[in-house]
Amino acid sequence: MSSVPSLPIVRTVANLRAQVAAWKEAGERVGLVPTMGALHEGHLSLIRLALAHADRVVASLFVNPAQFGPNEDLAAYPRDEAGDAALLAAAGCHLLYAPGVGEMYPQGFATTVMVRGVSEPMDGAARPGHFAGVATVVAKLLLQSGPDLAVFGEKDYQQLQVIRRLVCDLDIPVQIIGGPTARAEDGLALSSRNAYLTPDQRRAAPELNAALQEAAARLRAGEPVAAVETAARARLTAAGFARVDYVEARRPDDLGRLGPGPIEGPARLLAAALLGRARLIDNVPV
Ligand code: AMP
Repeated sequence: MSSVPSLPIVRTVANLRAQVAAWKEAGERVGLVPTMGALHEGHLSLIRLALAHADRVVASLFVNPAQFGPNEDLAAYPRDEAGDAALLAAAGCHLLYAPGVGEMYPQGFATTVMVRGVSEPMDGAARPGHFAGVATVVAKLLLQSGPDLAVFGEKDYQQLQVIRRLVCDLDIPVQIIGGPTARAEDGLALSSRNAYLTPDQRRAAPELNAALQEAAARLRAGEPVAAVETAARARLTAAGFARVDYVEARRPDDLGRLGPGPIEGPARLLAAALLGRARLIDNVPV
């Protein structure tokens, strides 16, 4: 075990399990917060949420190659383990689990977890294989650590719903808690990928949330789904987004399609669009 001030770090499944078992034997509830590092206030808000529900909180840091496409930003993804560990320690996290790729995917690794339905539209269509990579690594992290609860951000709303489905279908005994999206003052959802934005792009980026807020208000006012989605796409294109992957109102739980007319119950509005080399995603409740 190596460590930075007051935050122990484990890198193997065996050491992780030994620590969690000791806590559970002492009657303590354990929470897990999975991350890919480059931590910001959004991640830290999830640590605090976990601390409100558990006696001990484990953060995992693993940049999961299996959830990046061949032309995506795996090599460029920001990495700063020492900085992350300091932030986690200050937030009250008790343990960092930072396995290497060989610990997570040893030679001969051959299993993929695929969640049908909820993982297929939107990011599932725009990023083939992405949610299979996410579902596989999250299933592993949950089975490796055996926490009482795990916290995921609503910022990745489709991911959160994929994980809820996965845990239910595979009878993994863990409570999944969704944490609200942490935002900059101008509404931009905090994201490790915001680091890719130039100053000009950073000024345009809040338009993603603004377009969703406007669309949500229009849906609440009874405007038809199809027209609202089209108007939101146009607003993003006008704001300088190079490509709009989707802007869609969906059922909030299974992310099924809504009809083209006015909404008749709760919905979730989700969007993904490319600004420079950053692919930004956001979503809001309706
Ligand atoms: P990532 O490191 O981007 O894989 O994210 C790790 C966890 O933090 C996921 O559950 C994300 O949904 C969550 N997360 C990322 N950004 C935010 C944010 N701005 N607010 C709340 N949670 C977030």
